[in-house]
Amino acid sequence: LIENNARYLWHPMAHPAEMQAHPPRIVNAAEGVEIVDVHGKKVLDAVGGLWNVNLGYSCGPVKKAIRDQLDELPYYSTFRGTTNSPLIELSYELAEWFKEDGLTRSFYTSGGSDSVETCLRLARQYHKINGQPERTKFIALKKGYHGTHFGGASVNGNQNFRRNYEPLLPGVFHLPAPWTYRNPFGTSDGAEIAAAIGRLFEEEIAFQGADTIAALIVEPVLGAGGVIVPHATFLPLMREICDRHGILLIADEVITAFGRTGAWTGSRLWGVKPDLMSTAKAITNGYFPFGAVMISEKVAEVFESNRNAVGTIGHGYTYSGHPVGAAAALAMLKETKRLNVAANAAARGEELLRGLDNLENKHELVGDVRGKGLMCALELVSNREKKTPAGKEVLQKVQDVAYDAGVLVRTSGPNVILSPPLVITAQDVGRIVDALDAGLAAAG
Ligand code: PMP
Repeated sequence: LIENNARYLWHPMAHPAEMQAHPPRIVNAAEGVEIVDVHGKKVLDAVGGLWNVNLGYSCGPVKKAIRDQLDELPYYSTFRGTTNSPLIELSYELAEWFKEDGLTRSFYTSGGSDSVETCLRLARQYHKINGQPERTKFIALKKGYHGTHFGGASVNGNQNFRRNYEPLLPGVFHLPAPWTYRNPFGTSDGAEIAAAIGRLFEEEIAFQGADTIAALIVEPVLGAGGVIVPHATFLPLMREICDRHGILLIADEVITAFGRTGAWTGSRLWGVKPDLMSTAKAITNGYFPFGAVMISEKVAEVFESNRNAVGTIGHGYTYSGHPVGAAAALAMLKETKRLNVAANAAARGEELLRGLDNLENKHELVGDVRGKGLMCALELVSNREKKTPAGKEVLQKVQDVAYDAGVLVRTSGPNVILSPPLVITAQDVGRIVDALDAGLAAAG
């Protein structure tokens, strides 16, 4: 398996020689919050699939919904005039779910990158239909991650996902990430940092011309860029500036939409209503590729009040509104509410952060601890004073030893990233902290 994996699969982010030297973990079963590798070793999945298996691997209602839907109607898309029953039911439930965020219409995709792309395209369309066709530019954040399509890559704030794909979309500008650990402002006061980014945003708007900017896209908590939790004033300030200049606010909630931060949505965590929201990942608990774009009344109104414009939109996927995805999502929403997983994410998240803080006190290797709910990160450094990022071997060692101790964690750059299922127990939190303790001791 190891040889064939290296030979026949293309892993864009791992070289075959690297995989021979350090064989990947081959997983062929999973149960509850654990995955089982080919050697029969059971490991707590503190990555939660890829931030998406919120309810764990044994969620019966989601599995049953998928099986039943396959028997009932295994495929039908929504395109022009067609649609399907589970999707209409889901749209009703999502409107209920997101009504506090002011989002009541939905459009469907096959994953996060599609959802982001849809938001970017809808933002431009909105302005064109609204009589402001010059509004085509996008503003984003450094360290933001928005998927791999060309639009998403263009707004990504990490060079690794950009440089090999240039030229990207013109007219995209990045503001600094709203973090206290490394920022260009010479302060670790979150409110000051938020205000400084606000001033840069205003300056960029004045420089570009407000009437050329379509939207600002942000993750309410930045995920793949290293779990950066902005100060509580940050997103409200961004919303206020967008409003003042007629710029749409896109919340990329592919990770945060269904309880991961301890709030039901990331926007609600900060009390902000976005104009458009991208979701995917946990929407089917990871069991089916699916995503939803949530649309505010304000945006819907412009499309719906202009009948002639609709024919020009030209947007939709073969798999928009897949009934199996819709059935899975309906079951996920019901289970997520029944188990009140956001409350568990908040409680377990606090315990996890406390455990990680203890590790920071104990291990010189830990430069910073960040998190909200069950999205957390440790940033590892070889020199605390200078904040020198730790090397790849150090992170690999931490991951390997943690795995041997029974916990899978993810590494990304100098960060160890944790996004376990939202149904973990206090005991599971203890397992994660203990395994990391062992990993950090071995690598330090
Ligand atoms: N946006 C965000 C915030 C994400 O975290 C991700 C995936 N990690 C994406 C978009 C892209 O989603 P996908 O991988 O499903 O295309």
